[in-house]
Amino acid sequence: MVTSKPKHSIAEVLTIGTEILLGQIVDTNTQYLAQELAILGVNCFYHTTVGDNVERIITCIQAALTRADIIILSGGLGPTADDLTVECMAKALGVELDMHEPSLEQIKKFFSARNIAMPETNSKQALVPRGAMPLRNDTGTAPGIYWDISLDLLRKLNISSPRIMIALPGVPFELKHLFKTQVTPKLMEQGEAGSATIYSIDLRHFGIGESALAERYADLLNLANPTVAPYAGHGECRLRVTAKASTLDEAKALTQPVVDQIIERSGPLLYGFNDTNLEAECARLLTEKKLTISLAESCTGGLMSKLLTDIAGSSKFISLNLVTYANEAKEKMVGVPAELLVEHGAVSEECAKSMAHGVRLLTSSVIGYAITGIAGPDGGTADKPVGLVYLALDTAQETITKELRLPSHLSRKEIRTRTAKEALNMLRLYLV
Ligand code: ATP
Ligand code: MG
Repeated sequence: MVTSKPKHSIAEVLTIGTEILLGQIVDTNTQYLAQELAILGVNCFYHTTVGDNVERIITCIQAALTRADIIILSGGLGPTADDLTVECMAKALGVELDMHEPSLEQIKKFFSARNIAMPETNSKQALVPRGAMPLRNDTGTAPGIYWDISLDLLRKLNISSPRIMIALPGVPFELKHLFKTQVTPKLMEQGEAGSATIYSIDLRHFGIGESALAERYADLLNLANPTVAPYAGHGECRLRVTAKASTLDEAKALTQPVVDQIIERSGPLLYGFNDTNLEAECARLLTEKKLTISLAESCTGGLMSKLLTDIAGSSKFISLNLVTYANEAKEKMVGVPAELLVEHGAVSEECAKSMAHGVRLLTSSVIGYAITGIAGPDGGTADKPVGLVYLALDTAQETITKELRLPSHLSRKEIRTRTAKEALNMLRLYLV
């Protein structure tokens, strides 16, 4: 696709729906549209969300028209009384709604193909503001709308340059389909896609907090192109390096020296890029080194095993997964001595070591791995609080252990998840 006349267009995304305002659904449509617009090199300065209310939707549309060239609306194209988008688009610019017969036929066909009579209310979905064009929707009933608004209409709002308003169905699958197949090509044809494209790469870190990471890379955080920004979540941190250039290759090339520098400076704290995760890295390393592992888990109830077996091909490197929850199971299944349990307790470095050793000997696996701890909310003592966990990795040559003291205010679920990630990270560090 050729960009005939690149402009520096500014877009605004306006999502419509009271359920978004109430937090009942997560606004993934804005995330999707923002990412796609960035790839197209279209700047986006505002994301707005408004409920299902005529006056407020009109106010938001008119405000967006004053500050953006391309306004993309999401949601409210359905047949029911709370679907107000098309009506508000028309009212915002003072035009009538017209029935678009081919769209009506298409909607009728959608129903007849499913052997259902079209409810009368659905005919509403074939209405378009006068001068706008429907976008045929093959994935649902609501057509989208593409409106290259005439300057005559815009002048009434004291706007003197062209505007495009696009309405897409709220259902994410339909929105994506229409955006990809119809909106993107149109924006490119009209030269609305920018002359620049944006490329981002995530550098995933484990074992360092967000503020420590930000401190370590303070010298990079105020770069202009590429930019570097830290993000945290789920016990992990990412550094995102983003560059803007006229082609994707140029943008990638701009990020490369910074990425290389971070790889060098982060060392083993950095474990991968973009969509990878710790279990995938462990799986990759175990496979590459042709190593096998057996696991005995207690407080995680098999979560580490679950994560490792999520990876396709895990049968190549996993020999055995046991959940030895009760003391009796620790004794009978992996041979933890009864005296050890009496002397040190099940949540102890000694017990973890013994479990890892015992589970390794049950098969011919190279690595034995064990987790034992207190996930809470009950069961903690002053000596052994909630969040105390022991990890052990046993091979014929050595035994590595680690004590975790996770914050005891964390929920049981969080303690188990963090423990599994810490355990995967200890395995990864052993393997690298
Ligand atoms: P419908 O014909 O289903 O009524 P619509 O175009 O009127 O479609 P909405 O009613 O606003 O769209 O939303 C339909 C469904 O799509 C919502 O219930 C929700 O599950 C999902 N949805 C709507 N907006 C968003 C959004 N911004 N992000 C993610 N999902 C959304
Ligand atoms: Mg709806």
